[in-house]
Amino acid sequence: MPPFDVPEDDPFGPHNLPYGVFSPSGSTERRVGARLGNHVLDAGATAAALGSPHHALLAGPTLNPLLAAGRTAWSDVRRAVTSWVTDPAHRNTVEPLFHPLSEVTLHLPFEVADYVDFYASEHHARNVGQMFRPEAADSLMPNWKHLPVGYHGRAGTVVVSGTDVARPSGQRKAPADPAPVFGPSVRLDIEAEVGFVVGVPTDMGSRVALGDFREHVFGLCLLNDWSARDIQAWEYVPLGPFLAKSFATSVSAWITPLEALEHARVAPPERTHPLLPYLDDSAPGTELGGYDLRISVAVNGHVVSEPPFSAMYWTAAQQLTHMTVNGAALRTGDLYGSGTVSGPAEHQRGSLLELTWNGRDPLELPDGKRTFLEDGDVVTLSAWAPGAGGLRVGLSEVSGRIVAG
Ligand code: CA
Repeated sequence: MPPFDVPEDDPFGPHNLPYGVFSPSGSTERRVGARLGNHVLDAGATAAALGSPHHALLAGPTLNPLLAAGRTAWSDVRRAVTSWVTDPAHRNTVEPLFHPLSEVTLHLPFEVADYVDFYASEHHARNVGQMFRPEAADSLMPNWKHLPVGYHGRAGTVVVSGTDVARPSGQRKAPADPAPVFGPSVRLDIEAEVGFVVGVPTDMGSRVALGDFREHVFGLCLLNDWSARDIQAWEYVPLGPFLAKSFATSVSAWITPLEALEHARVAPPERTHPLLPYLDDSAPGTELGGYDLRISVAVNGHVVSEPPFSAMYWTAAQQLTHMTVNGAALRTGDLYGSGTVSGPAEHQRGSLLELTWNGRDPLELPDGKRTFLEDGDVVTLSAWAPGAGGLRVGLSEVSGRIVAG
């Protein structure tokens, strides 16, 4: 079917138009594209062919120039791309500049600057607390309802969907073991998350207010924070995640602009503790900070979980505000993960750790039981969000296959 004739109810129809970076078949040149249905529009070539003033932002080889251009430019470019793929007057010029998605190579769409990962699901935090601190009076740590807990991760190992993930090796020591041993992780896990991509930077010493979230954050993607639970359990005290997570973080090849998700904005869960003013999103006039994203987690094509992003306690706006409250600067291409998305129900948990309750209750898959990941397993996160008029806005999948380390 010609790309112009994509069905109106396609989750990647003209109401969506995520951006990515691709190489056409037979080429290694990296070009900025917009996805429409199962096609990729060469956005840079289209801008050039139509004499668009936005050509420099779409010339490649990454999305960074577009990210840095700011919210007004983001809207202008989106309006232009929408007209390129919908206005019959452009059809003859634009149609030859589409490529079938199946024939292109997709790349990491932006140059990742700094990478931060949060811990924003109360359900996830409580599950982990119950598993690892069963004796504690409260499954949440005392700080959890007062600030979005996070850590700085490793930007250089963020990889695009489709990249194989080598099983990491490291030290592990179960409590009963007399000494640590070294070897491939035997408790390799996933964390289903949403990644937020910063466009507009800030200077050191400045802070981003809650209401300025959409002036700085361009869009979002799905993110899999691969996690070696055995390495993590031994190394994390007292400074937090380190080698158990830094070996690979996978992101979608397509970044969905926040502007495509206007109809998916929802209020976050009710706050049970008063917040300090800089994080208080209950004040009158504060924009809705939550997003209604329906995530699906599949192992080897079998859906094992459906985590709801709308259940996240902390919003992406609060996370951005907290991340800069000390005066730390933002850079174009900063990426921050929401934290594992887990909902209140058992089938809404975003990690195998929780789904199997630390390995106690194996999952029954068509190809056998799973506690943690085996070599050859393919994990795919996909999602959609409600759009205007009952349409769905598809979020591009993030997929990765485990290979022997
Ligand atoms: Ca995580």
